[in-house]
Amino acid sequence: MEIALRLLDWYSECARTFPWRGAEIDPYLVLVSETMLQQTQASRVAELLPAFISAFPTINHLAAASNGDVILLWKGLGYNSRALRLRDAARAIAEHHGGVIPAQPVVLRSLPGVGAYTSAAIACFAYNAWTVVLDVNVRRVYSRWLRAQATTADVASEKELVDLAERVIPRDAPSTWHHAVMDLGATICTARRPKCSACPLSELCPSAGRMLEAVRNRRPEPLFRGEPRRLWRGRVVDALRTAGTPGVTLYVLSGYVLGADATSEERQWLSELITALERDGLAARKGRRVTLAD
Ligand code: SF4
Repeated sequence: MEIALRLLDWYSECARTFPWRGAEIDPYLVLVSETMLQQTQASRVAELLPAFISAFPTINHLAAASNGDVILLWKGLGYNSRALRLRDAARAIAEHHGGVIPAQPVVLRSLPGVGAYTSAAIACFAYNAWTVVLDVNVRRVYSRWLRAQATTADVASEKELVDLAERVIPRDAPSTWHHAVMDLGATICTARRPKCSACPLSELCPSAGRMLEAVRNRRPEPLFRGEPRRLWRGRVVDALRTAGTPGVTLYVLSGYVLGADATSEERQWLSELITALERDGLAARKGRRVTLAD
């Protein structure tokens, strides 16, 4: 397939460099990086991954970590509950798989926090297993290859995407292939303004230069003081990281997070937010103090 040849040619010149790629692949590094990449930009993950790996160099070190240990090292990555699911996955691997990260997507999928995408990605990138990996970038790029899309937001059906994937993924290089499609999606075939004139596939792609820019229609997030609740969750966890042990009272925490002029209704809102963080295993109340979870 000409499109595949051109893509791999382009990738051999323009591949992005990341710590989780390279000649010597460590499946543990792939597991950690794929979990981080679920909701954090690749450049940020590349920056923060080395400190995490040096604190937890093996699956067994991570399996032995407390909630507080992993949340501390997750600083800057956001969505802190992912850190706990990753540690839980490490425990399951240590206990049920002899400390070896499984290679089969169906087994990977049984691990905490590992869904359809992540299980396929780990099998592919850690073990070069032939499997269909469909993240948001890959879906977008494949959709644009399939037919002339009307807008930049249009995506083909799951069946069409899997059918195409099964035809184009090379049997002997599934890992390189998926890295190449992801890099094209991240740097050239981007979501809102694809750079078709700079694309190595523009002569072959039916969508080249034809799509209208889509208007975004996002679902509104719950807000507090005009900002999404998830940002406030992150701020509370950051404040607890800084406070260390034995934690801080709600009053002091409110000063850190909401400022000295917070109203009693706002402090009540903060208390409910902490209850939600406790439920998620991210924070704990000890007497009158709030800390990171143990
Ligand atoms: S030509 Fe445009 S739409 Fe087609 S793959 Fe390249 S960047 Fe994407």
